[in-house]
Amino acid sequence: MAKRDPSNTTKMVIVGGGVAGLNCAETLRQSNFTGEISVISNENRLPYDRTLLSKVLAVGDVNKLSLRESGFYDEAGIDYHLGYSVTEIDRQNKSVTLSNGNKLSYDKLLLATGASSRKVNNEGASLPGVFYLRSGEDQLAIKEAAKNASNIVVIGGGFIGTEACANLAKTYPGKLSLVLDTQNPLQKFFDYDVSAMFLNEHQKNGVKIYNNRNLAKNVIKGKDGRVSSLVLDNGYVLPADMIVIGAGAEINTQLAEQAGLDIDGNNKGVTVNPFLQTSDSDIFAAGDIASFPSWTNGM
Ligand SMILES: Cc1cc2nc3c(=O)[nH]c(=O)nc-3n(C[C@H](O)[C@H](O)[C@H](O)COP(=O)(O)OP(=O)(O)OC[C@H]3O[C@@H](n4cnc5c(N)ncnc54)[C@H](O)[C@@H]3O)c2cc1C
Repeated sequence: MAKRDPSNTTKMVIVGGGVAGLNCAETLRQSNFTGEISVISNENRLPYDRTLLSKVLAVGDVNKLSLRESGFYDEAGIDYHLGYSVTEIDRQNKSVTLSNGNKLSYDKLLLATGASSRKVNNEGASLPGVFYLRSGEDQLAIKEAAKNASNIVVIGGGFIGTEACANLAKTYPGKLSLVLDTQNPLQKFFDYDVSAMFLNEHQKNGVKIYNNRNLAKNVIKGKDGRVSSLVLDNGYVLPADMIVIGAGAEINTQLAEQAGLDIDGNNKGVTVNPFLQTSDSDIFAAGDIASFPSWTNGM
């Protein structure tokens, strides 16, 4: 793997401290790029395995999920600027503005801004005790709250909701309720028989299932400034010390849109060619936000 050579003043700037940003930085060094690599992330930790957050939700430690050993970044000469958002791209002057007002110039720029949890706007959804799961900080907060909870409600029958529910139920058996808008968990992804198997597994693990509910009509009630119950569309009241919502994800394309890059009208991702190049040849996009040409359907 190449090391940083200070005499090479080419600047690669990567926005996003997730797995796509890391792979770009590492692959550049593996491909003998010796210029400057700066990664800007609005999270406060170096890249970790986000996919495990739901699988080790109740007892996991995000500090142990790092994707690379701590010495790797110094060794490879990859500079991480943690805790800063990129707020603007100036394509004319080839620079990005950080949330502290600093500007960083680039020769090539990669956008790898990933996705955020889709937030719901049901009544009571902003009460303390209502959680989403996307980041290491979210995992730590859910893990902490679950320790003292008697009734944990998970809303959403997709991957994050069902994985969160299954994992919490292992550590806190008998305390979990799962509310979903289909008959079976994961029914939107698998056929009926497979999803029925998931229903059966959750029930075997002691999870109470409330299926075929209209989730838009959920009302979250609070007491003493915190969540205390969930009222379902049929009026049934579930006591809840905490609620974890898995309502899907929304890709973070705001920066790309602001910069006037082409957006795919079908999936709303940033349009890239087979080299991950956007409609600006000096700007690339990768990971969740990229809309990659598919050889199978021609899109
Ligand atoms: C709980 C959970 C479980 C998952 N399980 C699976 C699984 O089992 N299998 C699977 O294939 N996928 C899974 N996923 C999805 C997978 O994690 C994503 O596909 C993957 O993380 C995408 O990587 P990325 O680098 O594109 O984006 P991300 O991992 O989202 O990283 C983007 C980074 O950019 C930062 N950022 C965003 N905007 C800015 C900005 N303006 N300035 C600076 N930084 C910014 C974000 O904070 C984040 O750190 C799971 C996701 C979650 C949340």
